[in-house]
Amino acid sequence: MTGQGPASADSREPDVAGIDTVLLDQLPESVAVCSADAVCLYVNPAMERAFGRSRLDQLGRVLWELYPDMLGATFQERFRRVAATGVAEEFECHVAQRERWFVKRLLRGHGRVYVFSREITAEKKQEATLRGLYDETRRAQRHAAFLAQASEVLASSLEQEQILQRMAHLAVPTLADGCCVDIPGPDGQVRRIAMACVRPDQVELTQAFHARYPLRMDDAGGIGRVLRVGVTEFVPELQPALLEQALAGDPERLQATLALGVKSYISVPLISRGRVLGALTLVNTDAVRRYTQADVRLAEDLARRAAASLDNGRLYMEAQDAVRARDTFLSVASHELNTPLTSLTLNVQALRRDLESRSAATPPEALGAKVVAVQRQLSRLSSLVRELLDVSRITAGRLRLEREELDLAALAREMVPRFSEDLSRAGCELRLDAPGPATGSWDRLRLEQVFQNLLSNAIKYGRGRPIELRVGADAERAWLVVRDEGVGIPPEGQARLFQRFERLASERHYGGLGLGLWIVKQIVDALEGRILVESAPGRGSTFTVELPRQKAR
Ligand code: ADP
Repeated sequence: MTGQGPASADSREPDVAGIDTVLLDQLPESVAVCSADAVCLYVNPAMERAFGRSRLDQLGRVLWELYPDMLGATFQERFRRVAATGVAEEFECHVAQRERWFVKRLLRGHGRVYVFSREITAEKKQEATLRGLYDETRRAQRHAAFLAQASEVLASSLEQEQILQRMAHLAVPTLADGCCVDIPGPDGQVRRIAMACVRPDQVELTQAFHARYPLRMDDAGGIGRVLRVGVTEFVPELQPALLEQALAGDPERLQATLALGVKSYISVPLISRGRVLGALTLVNTDAVRRYTQADVRLAEDLARRAAASLDNGRLYMEAQDAVRARDTFLSVASHELNTPLTSLTLNVQALRRDLESRSAATPPEALGAKVVAVQRQLSRLSSLVRELLDVSRITAGRLRLEREELDLAALAREMVPRFSEDLSRAGCELRLDAPGPATGSWDRLRLEQVFQNLLSNAIKYGRGRPIELRVGADAERAWLVVRDEGVGIPPEGQARLFQRFERLASERHYGGLGLGLWIVKQIVDALEGRILVESAPGRGSTFTVELPRQKAR
């Protein structure tokens, strides 16, 4: 013993109520010695420190009256049992209000009950931290395994609905009791494209609920809002009281909502390249399981992967469409090239025959007509080939403009006679209204192409009806308008008109590669102008090209 220890022990009564306290005074654990009816006869210094009460304050009082929040009915029962039987008891005791844990031992000796109390709060807290870490690690492992599985599922197909259906099934029951995927539908509706539930009857119940109360994009909360705003909605606990409050005016709906049994949910947006493609919703109907932020993170991770895979699917479909369009184009192009080539071959053969059989001299007019036909077919062929060359040039980014000062009205007047033969063959009368001048800095050859395409379309699709060509200008812009009274273009076709390879009219009735308007648009764009169309089926079409007169700085 050190010099100080015994001095302090000696300063206390060595014997209180006949108890030898020398040893007890030294113990690090709290000790109270009580009579059989729990009156405190002695408490050691450790007990004074542990509970912050002086010895004098405690002596002579019933133990559980001193510590009512710590020594409840169970403790009192144990105390009486030990006092009566003398059989020692040891147990753990949690003081919830103070978040403290103790190990208590009750012993009987010489008609008294010894209450030993050792605090184990630190150990308990450490244990809880370790358990938390362990649970967290286990959850992270489970999540990682789930995501690996999900990635496999997501990469297993390029077909959108199939992917999402598989993903929903994967999420149940690992992550949720119910999982669904919704996408924005037409007219502000929400379309459900995948759903899986632990209980099969839950699928029907939910479907019936949404048939009666459909989800909408403008809903103030829930899936509609997630789709609209693109932000996760997490409800860790759906409070029935709040539901009752929100649906107070509609008891039937409240009843149906409660019957779904949703306890908590997470709804996350599927976003790709800034666009909300859909919403993934995980629903929990289990009263015990609670979603946490870790589940939200997992759902968001899953949603990111699903969105990327949806995007891949879409790109694949687009690539497929492009390949199909190219194949169609190749067959159209070969057909288009073949038609003038066949007539050309026949005409050249006929001419050759005429030249060889000099005996039966062919009249010069007949020869002349065949030569004109040959010229026409050659010019058709060269314009088709020019179009094809233009496409590859423009696509390769090689549309170079040779700007010069020119008058659009004069150019229109120059162009019209070049169409006189085509116009008369189609039975179209052309009205030109180009008083001019309409000058600007443009590319002559490219503008000739614009006239060429618009006028030949007007002749092709406006057969037998008048055509109007107008040119005008104000201080900033010049414009040309080509109007026909032909077949017209349906509204849904107008958006596709300027796309490459797009042909709306049937190829049996009208030839063409579907490239003319695309080329026109590329030229107009390069000149910083714009092209507009106004049309209705059977009511003709008006194409307007507007060009700034000077190049923007
Ligand atoms: P094409 O060489 O096939 O005519 P365009 O790119 O010039 O190709 O036109 C694309 C499609 O737009 C045509 O197939 C046709 O359906 C439609 N179109 C173009 N101009 C007119 C018009 N003046 N009237 C009706 N339809 C038109």
